[in-house]
Amino acid sequence: MNIAVLSIGDELLGGRILDTNAAWISGEVARTGGRVSQRGTVGDERSCIAEAVNRLSGVADVLVTTGGLGPTTDDLTRFAAADLIDGGVVIDDADAIAVVQAWCERVGLPPSEARAMVAKRPPSADFLSNDQGTAPGLRFVLNDCVVWMLPGPPSEMRSMFTRHVAASLCAGGSSRAIEVRASGLTEVQAADLLGDRLDRSRSPQLGIRVGRGLIRVTAQDLAGDCMQDAIDSAAADVQAVLEPWSLPVGCSSLADAVAYALRGVQWTCATAESCTGGGIGAALTDVPGSSDWFVGGFITYSNALKSSLLGVPVALLGENGPGAVSAEVVEAMARGARDRSGADIAVAVSGVAGPDGGSPEKPVGTVWIGISDAAGTTSRRIRVPGDRPFVRRGTIQVAMQWLRWRVDGVDEALQWEQPS
Ligand code: ATP
Repeated sequence: MNIAVLSIGDELLGGRILDTNAAWISGEVARTGGRVSQRGTVGDERSCIAEAVNRLSGVADVLVTTGGLGPTTDDLTRFAAADLIDGGVVIDDADAIAVVQAWCERVGLPPSEARAMVAKRPPSADFLSNDQGTAPGLRFVLNDCVVWMLPGPPSEMRSMFTRHVAASLCAGGSSRAIEVRASGLTEVQAADLLGDRLDRSRSPQLGIRVGRGLIRVTAQDLAGDCMQDAIDSAAADVQAVLEPWSLPVGCSSLADAVAYALRGVQWTCATAESCTGGGIGAALTDVPGSSDWFVGGFITYSNALKSSLLGVPVALLGENGPGAVSAEVVEAMARGARDRSGADIAVAVSGVAGPDGGSPEKPVGTVWIGISDAAGTTSRRIRVPGDRPFVRRGTIQVAMQWLRWRVDGVDEALQWEQPS
């Protein structure tokens, strides 16, 4: 299915806002197995909007537009649509007016004439309900193309896309795509491991990209000739080839993969964090249902708290000890977190996030990670190059990776080896 997206608004052309709507729609379309083949942007000019809608509907099976459906005078999308399908005639829709008035009452806004304007539609367009705002969307057919017009505010657009457009894309027979994610590899390393599986003539076709710190490999039926089983087995193959870096199929983040691993062995976990300031705990508790396996975390930034809360020996932290960023201290932190929380496994981090605090022996980006479980306590030093946010984010990723590997019993030798 050939899908086009048109973003409407002067603010987009002027660079005052970033077009996140189009990117989000492309991602959602990809998740249903489809592909956006064209995207365009036009300003708030009635004739330009009409021209772009006409042109894109001539080359696409489905066109999604966002923006220009609000109550102000620069919101001209509905009028441009009317110019194309009903010769410029716009009538009030009684149902839509009732919905807009009910929404105004619900949120305590006076139902003004301007707001009622959003209930106008070309007679042959259907109106789409909006549960996040006042402006309904529109749906009509032009040049054999189904045109969906959605409002610009992202929360309204996303909700309406999910409820109206995505459902119809799936019903239209688009096949699914499955994404396998991996952490700890570069794109080139992942591509090397996958080899000729990435050949673009194959079906299902594999696509590789980097997003949100993860490698993402999509197995997708672009030719429309493979069964769901073939997509499932291509995804399982990618997952196996990229082990141990790949996340289990269906896990969208490292935190998900930690949850998956912990649930598999019915373990609980705890954290002890210094340089990440609670970031590991925050990432883990992003996962719905994390209270089943995450007991809690200690944020011990100062040496005093490392000792009083986690029982790290004062001597380790003093002038003659190895210092807060050391194997001995993260191991003591991990042991203390596990003992004092009662969790089955605990992960601890302590490092130099910068920009200050580095030394020749422990430059900025030096981080120690400790893990403690019933089998013992161990630690490892990593170097995360980059600025403070990068060091903190990288530490959170590596700590979660190691946590799930340890729970999964991944071979120690494999854990830190980089593919050539
Ligand atoms: P409204 O009822 O707010 O007028 P609308 O459908 O007319 O809705 P616009 O006026 O085009 O939409 O945009 C409203 C706001 O939505 C913009 O100021 C902007 O914050 C956001 N927005 C619009 N288009 C986009 C886009 N493509 N990406 C991200 N945000 C957008």
